[in-house]
Amino acid sequence: MKITAVETHVCHARMRNWVFVKVVTDQPGLYGWGEATLEWHTRSVVAAVEDIAPLIVGEDPRRIEHLWQMMFRQHFWHGHGVVRSTAISGIDIALWDLAGKTAGMPCSQFWGGPVRDAIRTYCHLGGGKMEDFYETADDDAKRFGELAKAAVADGFTAFKSMAVPPTMPIEGLTPVRRAEAAVAAMRDAVGDEIDIMVDCHARPSPAMGLKFGKALDRYGLYFFEEPCWPESVDGLAMINAALTTPVATGERVTRLEEFRDLFAARACEVCQLDITHCGGLTNARRIAALADAHRIALAPHNPQGPVSTAASLEFGFSQPGYIICETVHADVPWRDDVVSESYTVEREGRLVRPNTQPGLGIEINEAEVAKHPFEQELPQRVFYRDGAAGDW
Ligand SMILES: [Mg+2]
Repeated sequence: MKITAVETHVCHARMRNWVFVKVVTDQPGLYGWGEATLEWHTRSVVAAVEDIAPLIVGEDPRRIEHLWQMMFRQHFWHGHGVVRSTAISGIDIALWDLAGKTAGMPCSQFWGGPVRDAIRTYCHLGGGKMEDFYETADDDAKRFGELAKAAVADGFTAFKSMAVPPTMPIEGLTPVRRAEAAVAAMRDAVGDEIDIMVDCHARPSPAMGLKFGKALDRYGLYFFEEPCWPESVDGLAMINAALTTPVATGERVTRLEEFRDLFAARACEVCQLDITHCGGLTNARRIAALADAHRIALAPHNPQGPVSTAASLEFGFSQPGYIICETVHADVPWRDDVVSESYTVEREGRLVRPNTQPGLGIEINEAEVAKHPFEQELPQRVFYRDGAAGDW
């Protein structure tokens, strides 16, 4: 069996361009689907897939580890820069889908699973509607409460909010009080049975992340996400040590060695590896083993498209330390036209039951994808009160 082509199919899904990767073989009808979505880097990733393809076209797609090593090591620059790492991830996911199809079993079964009966999922406030999640005003606690109620009415037992506003490296009480009011409104709206997460989007400095974390600790958040830059391992470790609330991070980390350093410093309790960025399922399995050695939980970052979700779920059915999966279901109304999935989601509780079809159990409808060609992503930029640039 040989790889004959590596294709990209770009699908504009409003906030993101989903980049689907199709690895085609010389066996009639046998191909695999992956995803390499990277916000504001769509053209770069598509080009990176083109650059990598000559390394693997003509090779046996069943030698996944060997191909991964070639893609990572054989163009002089190691493949951990986010563009190349995302391109490798998309191809690697497709290779695993192919491997499962060749073996005639779901990937999770291939990896010794399933290790659980169901996977719990959580949503963003608004379910993927970017205005609700990213643009709810930080002083509008009432709106946070309403959106929290809506998430629960939608069947979710856990949801994530962006209740922490952008701040300069040091600020006073106002943003902290606003974050507290928003979280209090959500807790009041849904009670203690529902799990609430707050994503700081790595906006705060370590000092501000600590202030926010301390103020929110008493609300019993399920986890507190990216309270400072992922590069600031000591900052994350300081915050994680100071809080009862578990710190989560990892969505912007691609290198195995960076994960090792985060875990060794106890910089988080929850690892949010992104399978479409961290080197695909091949590297995700290595990262999971490292996390397991530290008893750090896995909760993959997954706001992208449907192949990312299928890969994140298959992975979860094979990983004992996996606790929950991020999902987006209301980003575009035609999401279900683009993909058919073989796992099932129970409306009540939003639990996912395992896929029973080979590989990732998905099919992408290329004709539907073609209806949504590339468009430039909407700009999302942050400036502080004084005009200085901040983190989105
Ligand atoms: Mg995040």
